[in-house]
Amino acid sequence: CGIVGYIGLPEKTAGHNALDVLLEGLRRLEYRGYDSAGVATIAGGAVEARKKAGKLANLVTEIETAPLTPATLGIGHTRWATHGGPTDQNAHPHLGDEGRLAVIHNGIIENFAELKERLLADGCTFDSQTDTEVAAQLIGRHFAGDAAGDLTEAMRLACQELDGAFTLLAVHADQPDRVVAARRNSPLVVGLGEGENFLGSDVSGFIDFTRDAVELEQDQIVTITSDAVAIIGFDGTPAEGKRFRVDWDAAA
Ligand code: GLU
Repeated sequence: CGIVGYIGLPEKTAGHNALDVLLEGLRRLEYRGYDSAGVATIAGGAVEARKKAGKLANLVTEIETAPLTPATLGIGHTRWATHGGPTDQNAHPHLGDEGRLAVIHNGIIENFAELKERLLADGCTFDSQTDTEVAAQLIGRHFAGDAAGDLTEAMRLACQELDGAFTLLAVHADQPDRVVAARRNSPLVVGLGEGENFLGSDVSGFIDFTRDAVELEQDQIVTITSDAVAIIGFDGTPAEGKRFRVDWDAAA
C-alpha cells in the first residue's frame, strides 16, 4: 500500500543510511493503512531483507533482533493484502533470481495465476501466496535471461507481460548502483536530492529529505542512481518527467 525507495552515496555528506530513509518514509505513509511491512537493502554484494506482519514497530523489532548492514540503497513497503493473507511470508519484499533480486509492489497483477502456472512448469518455486512474487520471479527470469543482467530491461520485459494496476520497485545485488521502478495505473513519484534520489508512492515517502520531485506518466519505468534519473516507456522510448516542487507543509 505504501512504497519507498532510496539510493545515495556513502562518501557524500548527503548520503544517509538507506534503512533510516526507508523507515522514515514508511512512517509518513502509515496513514494509507497497512497490515505488514518490510524492507530490502543491498550490502556486501547481497540482498538483505526483513519483513513482518503487523505494525511497523514489529518490523523495527525484527531489525533490532537481526540488524541490517549499513547500505546506500534499498526499498521499503507497507502491505494491504489482496492475494494471500497478512502473514510474515506474504509480506514484501519478495525475492527472485535465487535471492539476488528483491521486489515490492502496490496494486494487483490480474493475470498472476496464468503466469504462476507457466513459471511453476518452468521449475520456479514460490515462498508466498502473493501475486507480487510472480512479478518478482518474472523480473528475475528476464534479468538472468534475455535482459542479460540489466535490471531496467528486466523490469521492462516483465511489465509487458503483466496485466493490472501496479507500482513495482526492484533492486538487484548484481547492480547495486540503482533502484528501478515501474508504474501502471498506480501512483509513483521521484524525489530529487544531491548525491541521492528517492521514490515514493506519494511525496510523503521522502518529504523529510527533499521537496524537489518528478511526476511520471503511466506505463513508464524509472531508473534512479545516486546522481541521475532516467525514464522510459514500457516500449523503451526515453521520456521526460514533469518536475515540481512540493509546497505543502509536512510538519508532523
Ligand atoms: N497485491 C499485493 C499483495 O497482496 C500488493 C498489495 C498492496 O498494494 O499492498 O501482496
